[in-house]
Amino acid sequence: MTDELNATIYYEDDADANYLSGKTVAVLGYGSQGHAHAQNLADSGVDVVVGLREDSSSRAAAKEDGLEVATAKEAAAKADVVSVLVPDTVQPAVYEEIKDELEAGNTLQFAHGFNIHYNQIKPKDGIDVTMVAPKSPGHLVRRNYEAGEGTPGLVAVYQDETGEAKERALAYAQAIGCARAGVVETSFREETETDLFGEQAVLCGGVTSLVKTGYETLVDAGYSPEMAYFECLNELKLIVDLMYEGGLGEMWDSVSDTAEYGGLTRGDVVVDDHARERMEEVLEQVQNGEFARQWIVENQAGRPSYTQLREAEGNHEIEQVGEELRALFAWAEEKETEEDKESP
Ligand code: NAD
Ligand code: MG
Ligand code: MG
Ligand code: MG
Ligand code: MG
Repeated sequence: MTDELNATIYYEDDADANYLSGKTVAVLGYGSQGHAHAQNLADSGVDVVVGLREDSSSRAAAKEDGLEVATAKEAAAKADVVSVLVPDTVQPAVYEEIKDELEAGNTLQFAHGFNIHYNQIKPKDGIDVTMVAPKSPGHLVRRNYEAGEGTPGLVAVYQDETGEAKERALAYAQAIGCARAGVVETSFREETETDLFGEQAVLCGGVTSLVKTGYETLVDAGYSPEMAYFECLNELKLIVDLMYEGGLGEMWDSVSDTAEYGGLTRGDVVVDDHARERMEEVLEQVQNGEFARQWIVENQAGRPSYTQLREAEGNHEIEQVGEELRALFAWAEEKETEEDKESP
């Protein structure tokens, strides 16, 4: 256990598998997180039953992976720990389906805090409510586990009826491989609010807007769409890879001094105090529940504006240019591999 960076981080030695031994875990959902948690738990020797709708297309996949499959209600009835890994918008309805099967001392477990934090699920008394959230898409959670490596994750306790909620959550984090890499202690509130802010302001919303605005600025000034695509979208991966490996410093070290000086002098001109104020507004809407209300109402209405926004995003010129250029890459890459094979 270390807490040099304020947050407490747990590792393998802090987790005790005994807290899960003899217990059955129901994994509800077999998507990105669900398939990874279910298979990692099973490979760690935990009894797993996957809960899916009768008509779910994921049933075949879970069975093929050697797992027992039941309905969510049946799975919850068998389980001591119920891991809720269906989409966030579906979770409140699934909770209604299973809540009668949750017995005193059981654990209701999440990988994201949205529904608990914004009161869309009001968990009954007598059960533990915890979170183990890998900080990575499910396919990496599975791939890293199989490679004997870990995926960093978060752990949080919302309701501790047994007095063992954290120990049990850490045992779960260990069984899916997160404790190998480190599990950061947080709260449902902190996880939910930072996750929403990050994806809105930086990771998903901020980055796509930066890319589109940069692309449009170049094309509007008369440069070719192909050049604008390469410069503002394609090269982003190379920059992000460097940041991922070694932080901002490794990126600055790797680009030319001209790029470094230009970036250091112009970056804050683009993302300026105005952008910071907008970020603060976005954070406030996350904190005061306005974003959550909007998203819940949007779903209740059948997602009208979400559907429109998705369509508009798909029709952006950068998407057409990108499709054509990526097709050229694929051709070039195939050709290269063929040539490689031919040469001795
Ligand atoms: P997903 O969309 O990949 O998969 C959800 C699965 O739930 C589907 O594959 C299906 O098996 C089932 N399902 C879908 N609709 C259903 C319905 N109407 N009723 C019952 N079952 C249904 O979901 P995900 O991305 O794995 O997200 C699961 C949880 O994990 C969420 O709380 C999410 O916030 C969290 N999370 C996701 C990631 C990620 O990278 N994907 C990372 C961390 C946490
Ligand atoms: Mg996130
Ligand atoms: Mg998220
Ligand atoms: Mg360049
Ligand atoms: Mg340099």
